[in-house]
Amino acid sequence: MESVKQEVLIVGSGIGGLVCGAILSKNGYHVTVLERNKQIGGNLQTYARDKCIFDSGVHYVGGLDKGQNLYKIFKYLDIIDKLKMQKLDEEAFDRIVFLSDQKEYKYAQGYERFAETLIADFPKERDAILNYCEQIKSICKKFPMYQLEVGDGFSKSTVLSIDTKAFIESITQNERLRNVLAGNNGLYAGIGDHTPVYVHALVLNSYIESSWRFVDGGSQIARLLCKIITNAGGIVKNRTEITRFHEEDGKITYVEDSNGKRYEADYFISNVHPARTLEMLETDKIRNAYRNRIMNLENSLSAFMVNITLKPGLMKYEKTNYYCFLHDDVWQTMDHTDETWPLSYCLFYSASSKSDTYAEAITLMAYMKYEEVEKWKDSFNTVLTPESRGDEYENFKKAKAEKLINLANERFPGLKNAVLSYYCATPLTFRDYMGTHDGSIYGIAKNYKDPLKTFISPRTRIPNLLFTGQNVNLHGVLGVAISSLVTCAEILGMEFLIDAINEAQEA
Ligand SMILES: Cc1cc2nc3c(=O)[nH]c(=O)nc-3n(C[C@H](O)[C@H](O)[C@H](O)COP(=O)(O)OP(=O)(O)OC[C@H]3O[C@@H](n4cnc5c(N)ncnc54)[C@H](O)[C@@H]3O)c2cc1C
Repeated sequence: MESVKQEVLIVGSGIGGLVCGAILSKNGYHVTVLERNKQIGGNLQTYARDKCIFDSGVHYVGGLDKGQNLYKIFKYLDIIDKLKMQKLDEEAFDRIVFLSDQKEYKYAQGYERFAETLIADFPKERDAILNYCEQIKSICKKFPMYQLEVGDGFSKSTVLSIDTKAFIESITQNERLRNVLAGNNGLYAGIGDHTPVYVHALVLNSYIESSWRFVDGGSQIARLLCKIITNAGGIVKNRTEITRFHEEDGKITYVEDSNGKRYEADYFISNVHPARTLEMLETDKIRNAYRNRIMNLENSLSAFMVNITLKPGLMKYEKTNYYCFLHDDVWQTMDHTDETWPLSYCLFYSASSKSDTYAEAITLMAYMKYEEVEKWKDSFNTVLTPESRGDEYENFKKAKAEKLINLANERFPGLKNAVLSYYCATPLTFRDYMGTHDGSIYGIAKNYKDPLKTFISPRTRIPNLLFTGQNVNLHGVLGVAISSLVTCAEILGMEFLIDAINEAQEA
């Protein structure tokens, strides 16, 4: 007799929810994913303007060369060969630029080339740069899941309480090199005297190992993962907002959507921010101390993004990303005022299958605090439920976009002239599309001073309720894929899952 499949209900179709859904589908569970947006994928969503595709939240990804961690996860899921990807410039996947200096400091791929490139810029700092590389690699080795190995939490405990800024300061006395080494800290919204070095190391290491762009956008990952679930008989349902998790006798029995429809299952996985999940959960099984801790955790900052379509043939396409700083101290770029904004910005090119000679579209991104748009907080605007936030908001966006474009034009002459049209996203856009309170781009901010407080376990006091996504473990496509392994291991067992991933590499 065929055994009845266990039901898994996943709330949210970000990469976290979808990777969990795909893994559990592969392992015989019947999966239902419920997503409140029209488009699945959370931050993997893309949108098109003037025939150009823009990513909402993924510009480049690391760890995708054969044998590397994200490659292995995608190989296990059998999607690696189906993804349209482009490797970034091996000599310079990132360029760090300071207003006070005409030089572009390059981050090259592969540790040897990465070190050589920096040593060419800082010949007297050879030992410091080599030591830095060794230390980053050694920190990463302390995280078994990152290496796709079974291990305990002990090895990493020795590095959880180290501050990134202090770590870099211990490497070299050279101020410029210190700032160059932290120059892409926008990848993790790094804060001096706050962000633990393991976040810096795990993120940076993956890009040094290899850096990739998704051609025509990252939503292809969501589509491929969705197919795994539906091909196994599962369901991925959009336009379904969950508003309540119902607990009975110590277990979640169903979740309820905004229309009152109930969905029962054996396991429930929330891909929604843990604070928002707890708001939807009525139970006395979760202790107040835990609830208060999660509700009061600080989130990383939000951003202002200008997605620009370009006139044809005017701006060369580059397989590199720019991190531009108006001040020499890369740790101070969040401390802007209305007058000084922005203190830094990034420039990303969109990879298109139509051409890689000239750029069709670029994105400019700068930090922005939720408070800067808070006066429009009562509006809610998505494709599914469009609502105008009013003329004042439109003017605010226009002024910010033009300031950013003018600024970027100083470093990239001709950019302004090449602009065909532009579209903006503010912290309110991120809030409304991702379902967070404040539009935080990377979720809960990790803090070296109290590392365990900002470490969210996938497990809750309710045995059949699990968390997944960027707030568990680490953010980013790689970080969240690993979070999904940590979550699925609660159901499948860690050894089983790691063995299955490693065995799949031989196929
Ligand atoms: C501007 C920006 C740039 C970024 N750049 C990069 C990059 O270059 N490289 C990289 O690796 N990472 C990048 N990231 C980070 C990365 O995109 C995220 O860490 C990752 O996609 C988060 O995935 P997730 O599954 O945790 O959550 P999300 O993508 O936030 O998905 C959560 C999903 O849950 C849904 N949801 C919420 N509430 C409910 C509810 N009540 N009912 C039903 N559904 C609900 C949401 O609609 C959403 O679809 C960037 C992020 C942003 C915002």
